[in-house]
Amino acid sequence: KTIRIAIDGPAGAGKSTIAKMAAEKLNYTYVDTGAMYRAITYKSMEHQLDLSDEAALVDLLKQTTIELRPSETGQQVYLDGINVSNEIRTTEVTSNVSEVAAHARVRQELVDRQMVLAQTGGVIMDGRDIGTHVIPDAELKIFMSASADERARRRLLDNEKRGIPSDLEQLKADIIKRDKLDSEREASPLVQAEDAIYLDTTNLSIDQVVEKIVQLAKE
Ligand code: C5P
Repeated sequence: KTIRIAIDGPAGAGKSTIAKMAAEKLNYTYVDTGAMYRAITYKSMEHQLDLSDEAALVDLLKQTTIELRPSETGQQVYLDGINVSNEIRTTEVTSNVSEVAAHARVRQELVDRQMVLAQTGGVIMDGRDIGTHVIPDAELKIFMSASADERARRRLLDNEKRGIPSDLEQLKADIIKRDKLDSEREASPLVQAEDAIYLDTTNLSIDQVVEKIVQLAKE
């Protein structure tokens, strides 16, 4: 049997790394919903939109295609047919994405697209509202977290791998700010779904968490 797995949690908890690896082991499709919010944020910045202008953002989004394509080096993000996998991870995009993601109509448009992607059999999707809004009837829901220090440290390593220079204290401050915006926004705030399993990954290795999820998926 194949199931749908929803993974939610704050920035830097390890969701995407874990989800990617678990998807490989289970032979499931991995969907990085944060990449979709990042892609429309990047495009809006390129178009010099006022990021508080919800109507303008929605108009732009409706004329935008965002695809997640698998490749040998991991999932690649295509914006209107162009690979923007690196561009969407810059500090500028990272610090603006929560403002864009706070707009209810931007979320509705992306959630609709994510719901379609969730219909493709075995799927593992990560984000902030997957278990609560995108796949409320997912067979397995995980809420993943870790201490802010550990999350900042992981983001630093991640950025180093991508060749993005960054500062640990700055990353920690950004993470805390993003957590606050994501948790306190009115439209689908980051909250744990009632039926989600809480997983604190602060002291767990990547392999341990992947193993745990693969095991839960097979139950
Ligand atoms: O997961 P990632 O850190 O790439 O997500 C970037 C931002 O996109 C989050 O901080 C959040 O503001 C937004 N997001 C969201 N809902 C999702 C996924 C991401 O609001 N399902």
